[in-house]
This record gives sequence, C-alpha cells and structure tokens, in this order.
Amino acid sequence: MEKLLEVKNLKTSFETNVGVVQAVRGVSFYLNKGEALGIVGESGCGKSVTMMSIMKLLAENGRVDYGQIIFDGKDISKAKDLDMELIRGNDIGMIFQDPMTSLNPVYTIGNQLVEPLMKHRGLNSNEAKDIALNMLKLVGIPSPEKRIKQYPHEFSGGMRQRAMIAMSLVCEPKLIIADEPTTALDVTIQAQILDLMKDLKDKLNTAIILITHDLGVVADLCSRINVMYGGIIVEAGTVDDIFYKPRHPYTWGLLKSVPNHKSDVREKLKPIDGQPPDLLKPPIGCPFAARCNYAMKICIQKQPPLFPIDEGHNAACWLNHEKAPKVEVPIKGEE
Ligand code: SF4
Repeated sequence: MEKLLEVKNLKTSFETNVGVVQAVRGVSFYLNKGEALGIVGESGCGKSVTMMSIMKLLAENGRVDYGQIIFDGKDISKAKDLDMELIRGNDIGMIFQDPMTSLNPVYTIGNQLVEPLMKHRGLNSNEAKDIALNMLKLVGIPSPEKRIKQYPHEFSGGMRQRAMIAMSLVCEPKLIIADEPTTALDVTIQAQILDLMKDLKDKLNTAIILITHDLGVVADLCSRINVMYGGIIVEAGTVDDIFYKPRHPYTWGLLKSVPNHKSDVREKLKPIDGQPPDLLKPPIGCPFAARCNYAMKICIQKQPPLFPIDEGHNAACWLNHEKAPKVEVPIKGEE
C-alpha cells in the first residue's frame, strides 16, 4: 500500500488569555491511498486541531510547534500559504458538520461548483458546468439542472450536506477530511450520507479521514481507527482491533455504547464520568488517569508509550506493560 499522508510527532498549541493550551501533544499516524481512517474522541481531544494543523487552517492564535507532514510524497510542513491554497483546492477536500461553513449563501450552488473547476483545472464554463451537473447527480441530488441554479437556502439540511460533498469532490481530490459530517443530521439522512461517502470512496478511490465522536459511524466507513484523548493518540488499530480487542480503558468506555459494530444501531457515545484533562497544564502521566478505574501509581508519574499489541495495533496504557497486573476487559467482543 502506498502512503498518501504521514504525520510525524505533530505538536500544536494555542496562545490564550490564560496561557498556552497544548492541544496536540505529539501525534503520529499515516493514511494509505484510497483508505478511510477514523479519528475518534470527545470534543477537545485534539482531533479537529490535528486536521486543521495539516490543512494550515488554524485560528490566528494557533501554531504548529513541531512535527512533519508528508502529503503525496511532499513535505508540506513548511508549505507557503499560496501552495496550501492550491493543495486545499485540488488535492484535499473538506466536509464540515455545518455545510454553511463551506457554502456561500450569496452564490448559487452551480457557481460554487463551477468556480473551483475553472480556477484550479483551467476549464471553460461549459466544461465546468457539465462536470458540476455530473457531480450533483453522483451525490444523489434530484433534478440537478434545476438545483444547480438554486442558492444554499433553497436546499434542505441533507441536500446541503450532499452539495458540500459535491463541492469537496468536484476537483477529484486525493483526500477528503470530513469533520463530524453527519452529526447535525437525523439518523436516516446520516445513514444516506455515510453510504454516499462509502460509495464515492469506492468509485473514485478517494482517501478519507473521518473525524467523529461516534464510533458507530467510523465502523461503517473506515478500515482503521485512531482513538484520541488529551491531545495524543491513545489507541490505534483496525476496526476489528478497536471493537473486539481494545486495550485501552478509554476505548472500553467509548465502546460501552456501541457493543456491536455490525449491527444497524448507531448510538451516540455515552459520556464517561469525569472531565478531560486541562491542556493548559497537561498531566505528566497518563492523561486519562483521573477518570480511569484501573489507574496505578506509575500512571500518574509517567506517560505510557504506545505499546505494540499486534501488527498495526498499539495502545498507550501501562496495563499493556509485561509486568502490569492482568485485568479483565469489560467489553465483550463478538466475532
Ligand atoms: Fe488507566 Fe493507567 Fe492505562 Fe492510563 S495508563 S488508561 S490511567 S491504566
């Protein structure tokens, strides 16, 4: 498998009135061409900041302090704004929870699809319009000839989300980053949008990074999952590793609400008792220690490394140390 994206030891912080928030604290992962990877965790765990760091779309008070980002064989860690604009337009598409983040209310859907094609691919308006119409068809928007002339406010929530997916795909990017793309939608539309993304991934071989708090959503689309907590990856593995052989107490907590990823039931994650760590003063030890029923002395003293469990499966928990006491995994996997 050829790697499309490689992130090495990424550290990102935000300057605030009360101090420096260390939002991402050394994150490393990769994504193969055409692969779908899920990044899962509660809000504030660093998952969206990781993606915004890659895209160079951090808020003004944010900065990448350290790390390397290789995209399609090129080191884009130090890419200039203009180059990043081209990469964002051509090679990486984004889908957000709120379609109005991407859709401009004062332009028709057609204008918004045609413009990037003319700008980034040098097409004339007729060629661009043909592609735009095809793209609207592909994402399942009925009567595209009529819809292409309409404004975003004339679309329903689900249709707007489809239009945004069409926009993110129109230049045939190699990678789509979808940040909570279905959270605001009702369950039926949510399932349709996920099916659509799956379909498009298969048809166009687009790689996807899906950022979500909902493990059920990830299981349907992705082959691998990174679980994030307190600004670090606490467990990484295939969908089956995470659902059936989880080795981190935080993952166990997340899984309690989604016992069987092969069922049709998609539930929201049940909140885990306690609060996430204060990243103004991140703990020296395991960031989950204050909420963990299994915490030991070493957990407070030293951050656990990512222990290798199996090929491609790692967990940052001291329970995986060879000398750790054996505990019964409270999640019952079903093969
Ligand atoms: Fe719990 Fe310790 Fe594992 Fe952290 S390292 S998850 S505190 S057992």
